[in-house]
Amino acid sequence: MQRYLAKAALLPNGWADNVLLTIDDTGHFHDVQSNAEISSAAVGVLREDIIIPAMPNLHSHAFQRAFAGQSEFSTAAQDSFWTWRALMYDFAQTLDASELERIATALYKEMRKAGYGHVGEFHYIHHAPDGTPYNDPAALSHAMIRAAQNAGIGITLLPVLYAYSGFGAKPPEDGQKRFLHDAQSYLALICQLHKQYKDTPRVKIGAAFHSLRAVSPEIIRDTLAGLNEIDPTMPIHIHIAEQVKEVDDCINWCGKRPVAWLLENAPVNQNWCLVHATHMDADETKALAQSGAIAGLCPITEANLGDGLFNLEDYIKAGGAWGIGSDSHIMINMLEELRLLEYGQRLTHRRRAIARTDDQPHVGNYLYTAALNGGAQALGVKTGRLETGYRADFLTLDIIEAAAQDYILDQLIFAGNIVIKDTYIGGI
Ligand SMILES: [Zn+2]
Repeated sequence: MQRYLAKAALLPNGWADNVLLTIDDTGHFHDVQSNAEISSAAVGVLREDIIIPAMPNLHSHAFQRAFAGQSEFSTAAQDSFWTWRALMYDFAQTLDASELERIATALYKEMRKAGYGHVGEFHYIHHAPDGTPYNDPAALSHAMIRAAQNAGIGITLLPVLYAYSGFGAKPPEDGQKRFLHDAQSYLALICQLHKQYKDTPRVKIGAAFHSLRAVSPEIIRDTLAGLNEIDPTMPIHIHIAEQVKEVDDCINWCGKRPVAWLLENAPVNQNWCLVHATHMDADETKALAQSGAIAGLCPITEANLGDGLFNLEDYIKAGGAWGIGSDSHIMINMLEELRLLEYGQRLTHRRRAIARTDDQPHVGNYLYTAALNGGAQALGVKTGRLETGYRADFLTLDIIEAAAQDYILDQLIFAGNIVIKDTYIGGI
């Protein structure tokens, strides 16, 4: 058993003093005790100033890290998400299996340094560059899991079902040939991975539809029926309403907005994560909040791609849950994701302190704890809490300028005068 004593630690109910964290041999908290009385001479106790839970990163496309910074130039009269995507597809074509694994390993190490303890890998490159499946169709899924294991980070692998290039089952484009599955081949992949990894520590298998434009109602229905047989509690993710064009195309196809269509036509519940959900009207915002699903927000990527701003204030007021992801990995900075989320709202509404609740007026506290809980739920793992039975994923912090406990997360996120010192995942 390892033991850490923190002068201050962020527990599920808030800050506590002199917290003794005991970690068992499987890397989980065996005991978490506040106001512990430990003599300064006690041996085998590691002493820290501040300990907080490590952050789950609920949305990642690992290969895109090697593309970061290589699309910051103009290619058209009006550059957009879609012109960026054309460059990204060309880049994705150039990577072989060993390069994909190398990039993911380096990225996951970087995430760990930034304070992330678990990644949701939204994994859609399945096949060789010419579109042929590998001898083992799960070869690149195994590569992502190995990368996470080598970096010492937890992973929820979300293999992605991608079948079409647009609403109404439009045939896929050439640049999408490495991504493609039908419901049957996809379910075979999930079944194989689920069986192989169900007892592997720090590995969880989930599922994902790339977006409404990449699947059909029939494929969604058949796939959900199959997934339900494999694991009815499996996390299910989908990109949704990231771009205005996608909303317009969806309305042209079915007369409904994407989030409204999904909530009416799929059993969206607490197992689901709707990634981005940037463009929602007032009814969709309320309905998503009430569904119990997580909104997967990726503020740095959404800013970089010119997606738009999530309707955070109304979503919080409706009781909505959310977490953060680094998505395209244009920058790996967990604190910047949270800071930008709030600053985007301030710049839009021309007010301050927007991400908060009546119970939690401190923006830093609200942002950090909401993202912990939402991220852990979206990824289906017991992380994000300093609590008995949870995986021992935590950060130690260095204090540059000390203040009262209520200000610690405000300082960490907004001021940088408290900083991340080390990341521990599974107690290591
Ligand atoms: Zn994404």
